Amino acid sequence: MSPRSTARPVGNTRRVHHDDTTADLARQLDAASDEELLAILAEADAADEAMHASPPRLGSALPVAPGAVEITLLGGLGCRYGMLAGGAGGLLVRTAHTCVVIDPGPAALDWLVRLAQAGHFDFAALDAVLVSHFHPDHYVDVIPCLEGAISARTRPGRPLLAGNTTVMQRFAAFSPYHLRQVDAVTLTHPAGDGDGEPTTKIGDLVVHATPTLHVEEAGRNRTPIGFALDTPGGGIWHTSDTNLYDGLTDAVTAILPDVTLVIAHADATNVNAPPERAALCHLQTRDVLTITEALRPGHVLIQHYDAAYSSQRYRIAQATWLQRRLDAAALPTRILAGAGGLQLTLAEAALSHHTIPLA
Ligand SMILES: [Zn+2]
Ligand SMILES: [Zn+2]
Repeated sequence: MSPRSTARPVGNTRRVHHDDTTADLARQLDAASDEELLAILAEADAADEAMHASPPRLGSALPVAPGAVEITLLGGLGCRYGMLAGGAGGLLVRTAHTCVVIDPGPAALDWLVRLAQAGHFDFAALDAVLVSHFHPDHYVDVIPCLEGAISARTRPGRPLLAGNTTVMQRFAAFSPYHLRQVDAVTLTHPAGDGDGEPTTKIGDLVVHATPTLHVEEAGRNRTPIGFALDTPGGGIWHTSDTNLYDGLTDAVTAILPDVTLVIAHADATNVNAPPERAALCHLQTRDVLTITEALRPGHVLIQHYDAAYSSQRYRIAQATWLQRRLDAAALPTRILAGAGGLQLTLAEAALSHHTIPLA
């Protein structure tokens, strides 16, 4: 008895072909002869070769207006459980001339593909990937981002990978294949540990390393960096993971005197955190008040929440509690609770627009 005349097992079919169209197609192809199947596979080979000879467009994006900068959160979560909840992807920053991804955690690729399909991102335009430190909620999707930038690139020059000392050392060992295809810069703040440049220029963005205090691994508490971005739309400080320590905001002001937006990783348990939990970890809710008093930004956007804070109730309560204190102190800063896909546009050093395009 030939296998084709045997009644087909349905177990796998049920698991794999989960919708009617796929099940219909599977039944139809099950009835095809071997010759017909080989003809289809020859078509697939030809289509695959054509794709490699002439790479497909990997997305599209409306241009950002001159003088503006657009920031999109690739998920709003971070930390171990935020990452395991599927929400840690960092952020996408675009201007009229430049496109960078910062701290692509494991949710980044999925967000970028969705944004590309919805007309908000184009891998061909991705100029750089920036990584603040070697924690998985910040680096896991570096390689797919670089694959996309390298494969789809139509702009002149090569994509850039810029990271702290640990990231660049480890990446050189882990994937020399990718490192050969990008420009590479190690970024270090002079007050931190590591051997690198304090600043790099990417198109119309100037990216400065800011110092942190955060345990990257044993013996590496001063190697992580944050980013101060001098953009056409205003100054942005992305704190990355850090404690608030004496001198941190002074160091930021020395680099970026006018901060329009702070993207604060104020995520720990939080208002009543025990000191041992807060040590060498992340910003706490109360730290946002100190930062705001020192830097007087127009807005503070909170992201990199731990998984519990995927509850909107907690995020909005945190933002409301902070806003009340800022209002009472007559500080004009507005607090924004982060959310996956939240997109902000800054122009003329002020927030001009915010929306969630994929909601
Ligand atoms: Zn983190
Ligand atoms: Zn970290």
